[in-house]
Amino acid sequence: MSMESTQEAEPDSPEIDSALVTARRQLERAAAHVDVDEGVIERLKHPTRVEQVSVPLERDDGSVDVFTGYRAQHDDVRGPYKGGLRYHPEVNTEECIGLSMWMTWKCAVMDLPFGGGKGGIAVNPKELSEGETERLTRRFAEELRAVVGPTKDVPAPDMGTDAQTMAWFMDAYSMQQGETTPGVVTGKPPVIGGSYGRQEAPGRSVAIVTREAIDHYDIGLESATVAVQGFGSVGANAARLLDEWGASVVAVSDVNGAIYDPDGLDIESIPTHEEEPEAVLEQDAPETLTNEEILELDVDVLVPAAVGNVISAENAGDVAADIVVEGANGPTTFAADSILEERGVPVIPDILANAGGVTVSYFEWLQDINRRQWSLDRVQEELEEHMLDAWDDVRGEVEAKELTWRDAAYVVALSRIAEAKAMRGLWP
Ligand code: GLU
Repeated sequence: MSMESTQEAEPDSPEIDSALVTARRQLERAAAHVDVDEGVIERLKHPTRVEQVSVPLERDDGSVDVFTGYRAQHDDVRGPYKGGLRYHPEVNTEECIGLSMWMTWKCAVMDLPFGGGKGGIAVNPKELSEGETERLTRRFAEELRAVVGPTKDVPAPDMGTDAQTMAWFMDAYSMQQGETTPGVVTGKPPVIGGSYGRQEAPGRSVAIVTREAIDHYDIGLESATVAVQGFGSVGANAARLLDEWGASVVAVSDVNGAIYDPDGLDIESIPTHEEEPEAVLEQDAPETLTNEEILELDVDVLVPAAVGNVISAENAGDVAADIVVEGANGPTTFAADSILEERGVPVIPDILANAGGVTVSYFEWLQDINRRQWSLDRVQEELEEHMLDAWDDVRGEVEAKELTWRDAAYVVALSRIAEAKAMRGLWP
């Protein structure tokens, strides 16, 4: 099974803010740099709706457990809500709302005709059999059926879910609707309307953005050293591409820890989480490190691509990388962001760096609506084009207003969203 992101490193501080608190603070901070109506910013602090459902599951032994599922729909002024479903023990209302806000900005930065959504079930997927995961997913799809749909809200994989999860979700929805509806979710297997290249897309966009950042700061790809925390689909695909393009990936990690070779690791030979879970530490390497130590390596680029909140006020002062590229959603806390800014360490934000996932989700949605599959070459070409356009838009704001990369990405997103809100007006 191939998860969108499967690494689990616990944040190092109990005082960590929720995704919602961080997302609201980032919004308030960025709002100061853009000429947007106060009322629009106020509206964007709140989700349109949060659906909470109970999802009963008959376990393999015949007993019944009830899990809580969520779907936060943040804003749809530019199009249907869009964003992942995660299966993780810590899924809760606040996390889903915060993550759905980030999806709104991510889709707007990429100029996709979508708004933001996010949801999931508070469950540890490692404790479910395949049959249990299928039954849980089908029942969850049924509980959400009234609020999702190809023109309403289009879920996708996220932490702890994958193409198979999306296939079950699509099938359950389609059976009840009485027609095959591939466009209800993205991230499906290509044989049932999924897009080629979707699974590697978040990692590919992280690699593209890293390449552009390295160029922007005149480092040179061939001489650049990179450390990647997390070897799930985001981290592993980013590491493999950067290695292929000539960078030296010196450290990678999974949930158990990191391997480090200052001369560069043989990335191709390290199995991704999908190929063999938790195998990183079994590889030959001169040194092993903890998941905390990999964040403090003296490298050109650090890519945190595991879980949220790993760079906090406690360790931001020890980050020795020249550039941070966010592969995971929300790996840097609000306080850590300020510390890195003061120290002059640029942070290329998640809403730009890992946006390749939702961008290829958009391509998939188009393919589903048109009933016409694109080749892998076309997906990769169009993704490259979309990423470079978004990179140029954000870089333009960084240079024109001397903003951080995160503030600049917010300015690009907020301007587009605010313009759409102004045109449509407030109903009634
Ligand atoms: N879960 C992914 C993200 O955080 C992809 C969402 C999507 O494709 O809709 O961006």
